[in-house]
Amino acid sequence: MNLVERDAAVIWHPFTPQKNRIDPIPITKGKGTLLFDAAGNAYIDAISSWWVTLHGHAHPYIAEKLYRQALQLEQVIFAGFTHEPAVCLAERLLEILSGPFAKIFYSDNGSTSTEVALKMAIQFWWNQQQQQRKKIIAFKNAYHGDTFGAMSVSDRSVFTLAFHDLLFEVIFLDTPSQENIASSIATMQQYAAETAAFIYEPLVQGAGGLKMYDAALLNQLLVAAKENSIICIADEVMTGFGRTGKIFASEYLTVKPDIICLSKGLTGGTMALGVTACTQQIYNAYMQDDALKTFFHGHSFTANPLACTAALASLDLLQQPDTVTAIEKICKSIAVFANELTQLKAPIKNIRTLGTIIAFEIKLGKDEYLNNVSQFVTQAALKQGVYLRPLGNTVYVMPPYCITDEELRIVFTVIKNILQHYE
Ligand SMILES: *Cc1c(COP(=O)(O)O)cnc(C)c1O
Repeated sequence: MNLVERDAAVIWHPFTPQKNRIDPIPITKGKGTLLFDAAGNAYIDAISSWWVTLHGHAHPYIAEKLYRQALQLEQVIFAGFTHEPAVCLAERLLEILSGPFAKIFYSDNGSTSTEVALKMAIQFWWNQQQQQRKKIIAFKNAYHGDTFGAMSVSDRSVFTLAFHDLLFEVIFLDTPSQENIASSIATMQQYAAETAAFIYEPLVQGAGGLKMYDAALLNQLLVAAKENSIICIADEVMTGFGRTGKIFASEYLTVKPDIICLSKGLTGGTMALGVTACTQQIYNAYMQDDALKTFFHGHSFTANPLACTAALASLDLLQQPDTVTAIEKICKSIAVFANELTQLKAPIKNIRTLGTIIAFEIKLGKDEYLNNVSQFVTQAALKQGVYLRPLGNTVYVMPPYCITDEELRIVFTVIKNILQHYE
């Protein structure tokens, strides 16, 4: 049996219909922006393997650091023990985070980072005899992860249909626009006395289709939240580490969050790690004599030394002047491409960019076969050496920062080629 047959016999892939499945492509190697398959084809990873890869695949600097750490200390229980990579990473994150953060709580991935944030916020009030403050405000069309708490504060979509009865109740607001901002602020005020926290993906809703919204309007909402003592949770799992052109999207905002969630690019995309950072004020609610006020949350691999080491190495690379320049260049190329797209005849709409991200929708015609845009675009791009994975009919690019001008041009050309199909 070849690898695909062996895979079919034993593996259940994420987000993948199991019947009539499309065979997965065996990947044997990654280098820079490129993924190599078993047949020797190379693909430019134009979506950073689900938005995680920052500096390219199999980066030798990160690999070397990981190897050395693996020989030194690969894992240790993190209750009652500590280690250099965890402390060092916390120190460095606190230096660069957007806002007055004081403590770092580690977990394993993006979903756990938001679960931790929600629990941290709810127990903040519980610890202070304000149990009535336990509701969460979130945006419609949001995505904060796939575990139950994270699903609850995410959009009630077709992807979560089987669980809707089991999800806790959330106050959903429209993403801010001139038309709805006043009523959203009113809703926030109305529920303030029973609300623990407001969770939001700053400026870009990722899995909801790379929808972008205005910083000034979000600021207004955050002002209202702060005035009503609602804890602000920025989910920067996707937007963090340069994607929006700044290290964190919260840097575009004047009002800073009380809690911030990080994952995906945190380790440069090499290891699973989640971070939930909080302010001293949040932490103080847990500084109590009563042991029942402890935050009883943890994971077996909390602050795994290898993952922390990968994150430190990724930060080294991110802070190099070359990387800063590379990000600026990608931002410029993305803006130029957005302009080119507006000149096309293809039926596309909502062309939008923020930093290194560009997204647009393909308008769906009546022609049925074109309706599965995601599969069609993915397959067509793969044939031309580029990996794209549209969300429904939303096509987007979010490249690793090591992508060359030439590779980026190839990605853009391939997208234009594919769009000709829809003219
Ligand atoms: C991907 C994502 C998550 C979930 O992260 P996982 O590591 O996939 O669990 C949460 N929030 C946002 C904004 C994300 O983009």
